[in-house]
Amino acid sequence: MKMLKASLLFINTFLFFAACGQVKTPEFSHDDTLRGSITPERSWWDLKYYELRTKVNPPERFLSGSTTVFYEVLKPYQVIQIDLQPPLKVEKVTQDGQELSYKLDGKNAYMISLKKKQEKGKNESIVVHYSGNPIVAKRPPWDGGVQWVKDKEGNDYVATSCQGLGASAWWPCKDHMYDECDSMLISITVPENLKDISNGRLRKVIDNKDGTRTFEWFVKNPINNYGINMNVGNYEHFNETYDGEKGKLTLDYYVLPENLEKARTQFKQVPMMLKAFEHWFGPYPFYEDGYKLVDVPYLGMEHQSSVTYGNKYTNGYLGRDLSGTGWGMKWDFIIVHESGHEWFANNITYKDMADMWIHESFTNYSENLFTEYYYGKEAGAAYVIGCRKNIMNKAPIIGIYNVNNGGSGDMYYKGGNMLHTMRQIVNDDERWRQVLRGLNKTFYHQTVVSKQIEDYVSDKSGKNLSKVFDQYLRDIRIPVLEYKVEDGKFTYHWANCIEGFDMPVKVSLNGEKMDFIYPTTGWKALKKEAKDVKLDENFYVTLKKVE
Ligand SMILES: [Zn+2]
Repeated sequence: MKMLKASLLFINTFLFFAACGQVKTPEFSHDDTLRGSITPERSWWDLKYYELRTKVNPPERFLSGSTTVFYEVLKPYQVIQIDLQPPLKVEKVTQDGQELSYKLDGKNAYMISLKKKQEKGKNESIVVHYSGNPIVAKRPPWDGGVQWVKDKEGNDYVATSCQGLGASAWWPCKDHMYDECDSMLISITVPENLKDISNGRLRKVIDNKDGTRTFEWFVKNPINNYGINMNVGNYEHFNETYDGEKGKLTLDYYVLPENLEKARTQFKQVPMMLKAFEHWFGPYPFYEDGYKLVDVPYLGMEHQSSVTYGNKYTNGYLGRDLSGTGWGMKWDFIIVHESGHEWFANNITYKDMADMWIHESFTNYSENLFTEYYYGKEAGAAYVIGCRKNIMNKAPIIGIYNVNNGGSGDMYYKGGNMLHTMRQIVNDDERWRQVLRGLNKTFYHQTVVSKQIEDYVSDKSGKNLSKVFDQYLRDIRIPVLEYKVEDGKFTYHWANCIEGFDMPVKVSLNGEKMDFIYPTTGWKALKKEAKDVKLDENFYVTLKKVE
């Protein structure tokens, strides 16, 4: 996801940046810092494994359960931070059966005092019991939490979505993206007429003989907080197997009965998506956990190995083409975009939400690559270029670090266009594809900061793209290639750009073939007549004749 939420974030960031036409330091609260930074109460321990057990009571809109947090002590410290958002409340915390005391710092951060001496290298665990009415999602997935609705037959239909908001909206956890558990048990108890679909593989279903059943899911791979989900409903199931780069991949589809026939047709795009993305990005990153597509009452989200779907079984984005070119109507936006996140978001994950472009720019770009895979290079290019109409250029793509701030919504279309522009500079399609595949191999199942991705792309593409990243990620200006024709010579330079911007660009002079020129911010000249100057529109820049 997700466009609309990002534009809300964009509005926030915009207000901060645009107030005086200069960058101002925005105001963030103590809660934002506790949520968005690696506090001393977080940094001393490495999260290893979670056991989440929760009981869902739809009529009461109530959750109750516990998280067992397994961790390794990196350095001795006696206070551990666990986050849980009101109205949910921590009821009790224990370590080795002993009850612990805790203080609430801000609204969400429980600072728990450990009695047992925490020794470096030791593996420990705590059990955090909780209950309450979780935040009700007002406009999921953008304004997330837990969504409680009914299906057409009157059955309860419950789903979680919490990107940005944080998983602590529905269960107690270390709610920061830098540290992922290595694996996880998700055990959800629901009324016996319903099923829970979560991440990973279903290990068992327990009949509790009290009108409820417990669905135990196990995730074998590292998973980020917002990628974890529960979906409770009267699901039907069908499945198939995909022969992929790493062997057989199970594809499981969970949909409401009313959607079963539509899903059998629409979800034929899943193997198509996998074929295109394995080509461009390398093997699907979670073979052990399988791939699932799960009906939900909201638009969709990139939940790891259980992508959620609510695109109404139509192509486009709820039936619209975001590029305005027609190519966006050839495929289902949610199947393509949310699944693209399995590589960029779930495999390679930002440590800090300020670097959310790593998720959204590459995934927006994946829409272009999917289009190219099935409809050709010109179609893919037309799609990404068509999406430029959605770019605002009002605030930088990179947000503010350490306060859970996501930067501007330009991380989608502008980020996609930045990557498309870089591909032109690299000018070697196979090398570019190997850069994309190499990213997924090098940063496999890791959390990263922007610079790691930027350096890798520069290094492996053989082009120093650092100024290009700075220009498009950290500045709002779109470079202008200014040119003059003086004494029969074509002179040109970059304007409206960062200092030292020196991106190569392709132009055509007098109807000749597009070819590279190497502008800098200083003027350069070609000894060439230039009556008719055209810019290669694959580069996201503008052209201007000056006198
Ligand atoms: Zn997305």
